[in-house]
Amino acid sequence: MSKILDGKLVSKSLKDKVAQEVAALSEDGITVGLAVILVGDDPASQIYVNNKKNACDAVGIKSFEYRLDANTTQDELISLIKTLNSDKDVNGILCQLPLPNHIDEQAVIAAISPQKDVDAFHISNVGRIMLGNFEFLPCTPAGIIHILDFYGIDIEGKNCVVIGRSNIVGKPMAMLLLHRNGTVTICHSKTKCLSEITRNADILVSAVGKAGFLTADMVKKGAVVIDVGMNRYNGKLCGDVCFEEISKIAGYITPVPGGVGPMTIAVLMNNTLTAAKIQNGR
Ligand code: NAP
Repeated sequence: MSKILDGKLVSKSLKDKVAQEVAALSEDGITVGLAVILVGDDPASQIYVNNKKNACDAVGIKSFEYRLDANTTQDELISLIKTLNSDKDVNGILCQLPLPNHIDEQAVIAAISPQKDVDAFHISNVGRIMLGNFEFLPCTPAGIIHILDFYGIDIEGKNCVVIGRSNIVGKPMAMLLLHRNGTVTICHSKTKCLSEITRNADILVSAVGKAGFLTADMVKKGAVVIDVGMNRYNGKLCGDVCFEEISKIAGYITPVPGGVGPMTIAVLMNNTLTAAKIQNGR
């Protein structure tokens, strides 16, 4: 049986560290603040925003919530972001995606000050990740690296396969594994003979978004299997990975829920702390 990579445990250790540092800054009169903007009433986004607020409360970060009507215009949203860019109490700004169709996501992300871009989606932060000269890392891929480090899983020289090439998960995940000297292959919907590639993976990350996508015949015995997927199947939250069958052959595996998900928010807290430290010359 595989060893379970417990994202709740790892996220607790990261959040404890953040809480200690936030408390230390507060003793020096420095507060840490995160602004979260939600446009519209998408139920999943509402849950994510609530979870982020609760995480802020738990680590002592002040959260500023902006719940905007679905009809909010792009100009109105960008104008709010500009105000937050110059608000000294706000160290990080997060605009919950997806945005309604009439708003250009890239234009909104571009409006966020790169110094407050705690999701690391701004083009200048994306470029810095490519160069390996970054202050913020995108939350989900960085959370996965935290899990691997926590469990002492070495990346150097390993065959790493990432399924999925989105800007928020797949591509930055591949880049972070590359920075750690993994030998990285990125797969996507046009990849041929996918299972031949995945069966060579020492570290296999699935970020596809389809329940039951990764089956046991696609996994090498002893591999590290990271399940990023968050899907609903028969009303239940599940990942991309057929957990029961793969946990019999993988060396390590993340569960869903309780794997990658909790790490995403913990890294967001850590990024907000980093932003506050940089903005205060620490
Ligand atoms: P996305 O933008 O929809 O990307 C999905 C990727 O999967 C695409 O690159 C797509 O390839 C690829 N794909 C689809 N079908 C495939 C197939 N048959 N074979 C190989 N590749 C295939 O999704 P995302 O935003 O990266 O998210 C992926 C999953 O992670 C979703 O379930 C999402 O909810 C979850 N997620 C979880 C967290 C967390 O905190 N746990 C955070 C973010 C996302 P093409 O590019 O060719 O279309």
